[in-house]
Amino acid sequence: MSRSEEPVILATFGDLLKHGYRLNGTCRDCRVNRDVDLANCPAERTYVGQRFKCRDCGSSVMISLSQIVTCRDGPLEALDKWRSR
Ligand SMILES: [Zn+2]
Repeated sequence: MSRSEEPVILATFGDLLKHGYRLNGTCRDCRVNRDVDLANCPAERTYVGQRFKCRDCGSSVMISLSQIVTCRDGPLEALDKWRSR
């Protein structure tokens, strides 16, 4: 029953959501820090090479990837909802 041996492939916005990652962006110019709203990104589109622009000044945004789930035993309910799709 364990699916933990499956390789995790992170290629699209949908993959990030499914595996519990978030994209966080920091503007190079005004230093505004925001999470990218993955739920509003096209799930089938690859995020690699995507360019993000600051909503305030239009400058380029540095993206960092991090994992939402910090406790292996307690996945977020919202993520469970996604996985069951
Ligand atoms: Zn900015």
